[in-house]
Amino acid sequence: MALNVVMMGPPGAGKGTQAEHFARERKLPKISTGDILRDASKAETPLGRAAKATMEQGKLVDDATMIGIVRERLLQPDAMQGFVLDGFPRTISQARALDAIMTERDGGPLIVVDIVVPERDLVRRLAERRICSGCGANVDPFDVSDPAQRCRRCGGQLVQRSDDNEDVVLNRLKVYERDTRPLVDYYKDRPTFRIVNGAQTPERVAQELAALVDSAAAEAEPRRAPRLPRMDNRMESQL
Ligand code: AMP
Repeated sequence: MALNVVMMGPPGAGKGTQAEHFARERKLPKISTGDILRDASKAETPLGRAAKATMEQGKLVDDATMIGIVRERLLQPDAMQGFVLDGFPRTISQARALDAIMTERDGGPLIVVDIVVPERDLVRRLAERRICSGCGANVDPFDVSDPAQRCRRCGGQLVQRSDDNEDVVLNRLKVYERDTRPLVDYYKDRPTFRIVNGAQTPERVAQELAALVDSAAAEAEPRRAPRLPRMDNRMESQL
């Protein structure tokens, strides 16, 4: 069965890191809407230019744009065997659109994992987070941190994300509470919704998360009627 995973959680919960790790382990495409927008902004495409100011203020890019991007990506062949979504959905209307896309794909249910971390840890984590100015990669906390402060992938300089400064972080957390936290209510009664404690080492979170995704996938597996031995005609005639 296809694993269609949505990583939920506030900024700084470790969604990107865990999505990247899980996708690599299970050979699934990781689809991060934040990465798509940052790449577009770096390449100065019309989408990137339009989204840049919104992102720098910690606000949300409009639903129609985000739904269009994700729909196009999820209908590509490599995503049909499953995917890991990071950063989408972020509003109820995005979540409804995602349900419609899933119906259109007809490829198994969504498995939603909410990564829970106390707010005081989030602010600290975001202040400490570094990304590569060259390739945009997050510094992977599964790696031992690099004393030279260079990216392990491309050797680029590590810098703070422009929306990780304190004012923008506080705004992003406010936007999360207002627009994205209601998604927990939207998903919580589904048999494939799971919560993972994100206030642990990345390795431990990854381990628990993988087990939770597998348990949700087993839950979603259509129940098969137990196979009873069939009597053949010879046995019937002996009765
Ligand atoms: P992230 O890397 O997921 O923290 O996203 C960085 C920024 O990109 C967010 O603060 C938003 O401005 C924008 N963004 C990413 N995903 C979405 C989304 N699903 N809906 C609206 N804006 C988004």
